[in-house]
This record gives sequence, C-alpha cells and structure tokens, in this order.
Amino acid sequence: MDYVLPLTELIEQFRKLPGIGAKSAQRLAFQMLSWDKKEIEKFANSLLKASNDIHYCPECFNFSTGGGVCNICSSSKRDKSTVCIIASVRELATIERTHEFKGLYHVLHGLISPMDGIGPDNLKIKELLNRLSRHSEINEVILALSPSTEGEATTLYLTRLLKPLIKKITRLSFGLSVGSDIEQTDELTLAKAFEGRRECI
Ligand SMILES: [Zn+2]
Repeated sequence: MDYVLPLTELIEQFRKLPGIGAKSAQRLAFQMLSWDKKEIEKFANSLLKASNDIHYCPECFNFSTGGGVCNICSSSKRDKSTVCIIASVRELATIERTHEFKGLYHVLHGLISPMDGIGPDNLKIKELLNRLSRHSEINEVILALSPSTEGEATTLYLTRLLKPLIKKITRLSFGLSVGSDIEQTDELTLAKAFEGRRECI
C-alpha cells in the first residue's frame, strides 16, 4: 500500500539505518508520528546538534567537541606513554568501561578488509605514524583489535609497520573464540585481556 508522500519519505530515511528493513522502518515511522510535537522537535534537534558539534579529535580520532582534542587526550591523569589501537569509537567506550586501561587511544575507523575494498589508506594509519613521530614519549602500542579475519590482518600489518618505530608492541590475550567482538565482550574478560596482553613477534 502507498502511504502519503511525507510518510514514505520518512520510512525511506529509517531504512538507511543498519539492520533496519522495510517492516522495521514502517514501525519506527508510525511510532514516531504518534509522538507529540515537542518530543519530535527534541529528537530532531539532538540529531542536528550531535552532527554539528561532534568532530574527530585531531590526535586520536575519538569523538570530541569544541574544536580541540578529546577529553582523554587532554586529561592529565592518562599515561601518555601507551597508545591502544582500536577499530571504532564504540570499542573505545567498551574499553573505558573496564577502567583497566589508563593510556591513550588511536581509533583506526575500520579494519583492513580487501573483500570490502578497505586497505590501509582508508584507515587512520598515516595519522598514527605521524602521531608516533611527534610523540617520542610513546613506548608501547597495544593492538586491541577483534580476533576476526579483518582484525588479524590489521594486527599483522600494524605489527610489521610499527616494529621499527616502537619499543613494545602488544596485543590483547583473548580467552575468546576467533570471531568474537571486543564490543560484545564483558568487562571482566576484557580487563583480563589487557592484563595478560602479550608482545607481538
Ligand atoms: Zn583524542
């Protein structure tokens, strides 16, 4: 059945979201139309505000606001000699929840995946090399990438690339099956994976 045009357009917008099919998109659009105007305005404004105010930290590519570096890079409580490399900001949030890691991060914004046409140039790797050359105090890099095919390919690539530049390169010791995701890992397991991290050879 055809809906009125504004509703069809709204459904189309929801369909752009990951994991949302035609039926879910219709459900969301109908649900939202039942909200009162004030709630709808609040929702639309948060979306606009987030999109306008959030930018990437120029050091680590975490989300930041206000134009400068993020709250982790600017904190005096963080250990500036250790950088943990992760694929996404979502994983950064998962690791932060463990309270185990006190160093800094570097977000790659993806993993090497030749099947999807994603190579090293599509990730924040050039930026990482640049950062390492500017900060000689960094003496350990922790590769905290999921043990998937893409995660392993990226870990291998970075180990080779960083070996001549950094004293100590470590990776998390996962007591997890291959294919598991950092984001899905519980905090205790992740804390242990940090504690038991081992040197890459
Ligand atoms: Zn930062």
